[in-house]
Amino acid sequence: MSKYAVFGHPIAHSLSPRIHAMFGAQTGISLSYVAIDSPPAEFRASLAAFAAEGGRGANITLPLKQDAFKLSAHVSDFARRVGAVNTFSRRADAGWNGDNTDGPGLIRDLTSRHALDMRSRRSLLLGAGGAARAAAHALLDAGIGELVIVNRTPERADALADSIGNPERAHARYWKDLRACGSFDLVVNATSSGITRENLDLPFNIVTSRALCYDLSYGAAAFGFLAWARAAHAGKALDGLGMLIEQAAESFQLWHGMRPETDPVYAALRDELPLRATD
Ligand code: NAP
Repeated sequence: MSKYAVFGHPIAHSLSPRIHAMFGAQTGISLSYVAIDSPPAEFRASLAAFAAEGGRGANITLPLKQDAFKLSAHVSDFARRVGAVNTFSRRADAGWNGDNTDGPGLIRDLTSRHALDMRSRRSLLLGAGGAARAAAHALLDAGIGELVIVNRTPERADALADSIGNPERAHARYWKDLRACGSFDLVVNATSSGITRENLDLPFNIVTSRALCYDLSYGAAAFGFLAWARAAHAGKALDGLGMLIEQAAESFQLWHGMRPETDPVYAALRDELPLRATD
């Protein structure tokens, strides 16, 4: 049975073992996929131990994606642009091959599951961490119009815009100036504020009536942003559950050469993680 894992810290909450078990059952591929809690200081050693035990592939999540980039023997072009790795594949003794499936996973959820036409959408990205970097590059690759990036620490938004190197299409603004930035057809929340239940100070006037407001977080962590989006009369408000499943499917395809059906997995987990508080 081939061995796979997700590394992160903390990791007990991860849905990835269940998602990959469902993919394996559906495709008839026999695999073991476990969650490995690894503080950053122990990541190199626990990854080496996993490889020594025959580990063939791994997903990497918070806070290890940039460390994973540094530990990769080879990285894909997209992971290089993003500067973070969320998928390792191992072939013989060639070391870990690093990829980033967060960006393709986001685009697949937006366009295939939710039938969003990305072209020329004026878009706002909240956040400038690892997930925001993947989202920025993927959204621009997918053909959105202008991308405005804001972040609590403005220097990180500047750095992300600079790394994209196309000021006509992607530029940073101060959070405090958002009210004067006009309105957006796509608002992507790539901050981790929902995890700590902190409120984002977002004006209502930045949302058009056809806007899709999308939180990369899912479950209760997304409730605050989604409630704001509904109050702002956004056309649609979604969480990142679909992205999570699609990035997992991209990793599955890299490892097994076969893309699983994601809709049944989405339907099963959506039941457990509604888009609104149920009480
Ligand atoms: P990260 O690298 O730690 O970045 C966190 C970002 O959130 C930074 O831009 C940070 O701003 C901002 N932030 C944190 N607390 C904030 C607050 N109270 N107000 C405003 N901004 C705040 O984390 P990440 O890896 O990018 O992940 C971000 C989120 O995306 C997490 O919730 C994660 O679970 C989610 N995610 C989902 C998927 C999926 O498949 N659905 C995939 C990847 C990530 P500063 O720069 O000022 O600190």
